[in-house]
Amino acid sequence: MKKIVLILCFFVLFWVGEKGMERAVETVNELSDQDHPEIALTFDDGPHEIYTERLLDGLKERGVQATFFLIGQNIEGREDVVKRMKAEGHLIGNHTYHHVNLKGISEKEAEEEVIMACNKIYDTVGICTSFVRPPFGEWKKNLDFDITMIPVSWNVDSLDWTTENVEKTVKRVVKDVKEGDIILMHDIYASSVEAALRIVDILQEKGYEFVTVDELLLE
Ligand SMILES: [Zn+2]
Repeated sequence: MKKIVLILCFFVLFWVGEKGMERAVETVNELSDQDHPEIALTFDDGPHEIYTERLLDGLKERGVQATFFLIGQNIEGREDVVKRMKAEGHLIGNHTYHHVNLKGISEKEAEEEVIMACNKIYDTVGICTSFVRPPFGEWKKNLDFDITMIPVSWNVDSLDWTTENVEKTVKRVVKDVKEGDIILMHDIYASSVEAALRIVDILQEKGYEFVTVDELLLE
């Protein structure tokens, strides 16, 4: 009888110990979730008929959401790609209809460029985006008095389009990225897609969490 009681006691102690350990592991996981520094990947100039889909596949595999600043005229015929972006939780932004330098045209023309792209995005996915990345980083002063948009800049320029070299692009981004950074890339080159996915792998390994720019800017 004593033997049975002793064995029972042993199992009870073992079970309590296991439960305690599980709770401790859960607490550590919760803490490390909160500690993940957030950064945002942004892609300009798409959607591209081949590379954007390839990028979306890779981001989906990695559970990553990004922000896409779309050129209105590039959506023509590629509406399904934009619908997929929305369905998979990416943020869609405006990059004007014809990729124009807003500073070089009149206020009325600049507004038309932004509104045309807005309308094209709305017709495609039924949402009107508030986020705009002005081409060449040139936002027209006072334009936001007439149309309520949030211009989005960047802190880390991958310069992917200058070399179309995967290694150089990856190195440039990962070497000095830090919490809260917005990374600029373009989903219209095969090299950029490969580089972006490598960047995700390297920075996820370092504990970074990729979020859309609204999460960084509106927090
Ligand atoms: Zn651009």
